[in-house]
Amino acid sequence: MDYCAQDIAEVLVSSEQISQRISQLAEQIIADYRDKELIIVGILTGSFVFLADLLRKLDLPCVVDFIAADSYGTDTTSAGQIHIEKDLSMAVEGRDVLIVEDIIDTGLTLSRLVPMLRDRGAASVKTCCLLDKPSRRQVTVQLDYVGFQIPDQFVVGYGLDFAHHYRNLPQVVVLKPESYATVPDPQ
Ligand code: 5GP
Repeated sequence: MDYCAQDIAEVLVSSEQISQRISQLAEQIIADYRDKELIIVGILTGSFVFLADLLRKLDLPCVVDFIAADSYGTDTTSAGQIHIEKDLSMAVEGRDVLIVEDIIDTGLTLSRLVPMLRDRGAASVKTCCLLDKPSRRQVTVQLDYVGFQIPDQFVVGYGLDFAHHYRNLPQVVVLKPESYATVPDPQ
């Protein structure tokens, strides 16, 4: 994208790499969920681009719902706090859930969301993320489908933002340090 080309320090994952990897992930998911109906739970907001592309490759019966959730507090156990800003509109009881997330960092959000959906009676809960930063992990989380492992760098693009910007980039990038200062505050 031309409008912010000068802000980009490095393209970490290209749109071609993303597209290829999503096809592979979709094949795995289709094989694993044959004869089942999935409820796909996207974690807002960053997952929406990944989820939209993945969904269109999933040749199986599925429904989609979204949840806005984040972890808080310093307690690094899965029993810690989770703040649900927007809950699911569907019940997960007795259903096979696939959580779709943009990036796993500390792992805290997922480590609290998975037990919450199990407590609601989900038949199974699996996780799918585009990006994984294993070096940042504070808690162990089970990642069933992972797009790319990346180093400990702050990334934007393909749904991921800085101050609500850059979600529209078709690739995952690292910004130049000076570009953070020039992003307009949307509030
Ligand atoms: P955690 O795994 O620490 O609970 O949280 C993961 C969330 O932190 C992601 O959904 C995302 O909102 C945010 N996050 C972590 N690393 C990055 C990053 O490099 N870039 C962006 N834009 N968000 C990140």
